Amino acid sequence: MGKQDCLFCKIINKEIPAKVVLEDSGMVAFEDVNPQAPVHILIIPKEHIEKISDLSARHLEMVGRLVLAAKEIAKKRGIEESGYRIVMNCNRDAGQAVFHLHLHLLGGRKFSWPPG
Ligand code: AMP
Ligand code: ZN
Repeated sequence: MGKQDCLFCKIINKEIPAKVVLEDSGMVAFEDVNPQAPVHILIIPKEHIEKISDLSARHLEMVGRLVLAAKEIAKKRGIEESGYRIVMNCNRDAGQAVFHLHLHLLGGRKFSWPPG
């Protein structure tokens, strides 16, 4: 799927509404429409990259920014102490459904390990 019909590019371009919680020149964070935990935020780069496998060294700073955004939002949402999980699914076995790189920030309940 190209970026023309990418759901998350449409959210970045405000063509599809989303509950945005944090945004800067390179990333957007918004509420997952089908939350799997009391806190479930998606954090995405503004650049259209399909998946982890497509990352290279030039993306290092951007990936770091996504992780730091997760940390900032976790603090704001009051789950820093209780704990949280960040997840990035890549391809079929991981259940990746939207092919625009995204980091899930999940918290507000206890998670099992190993993951399902
Ligand atoms: P993944 O399985 O890692 O590709 O996750 C895709 C995530 O995107 C799922 O958690 C969906 O609930 C979420 N999602 C799909 N469409 C939207 C949307 N329009 N707004 C917010 N989240 C969405
Ligand atoms: Zn995209």
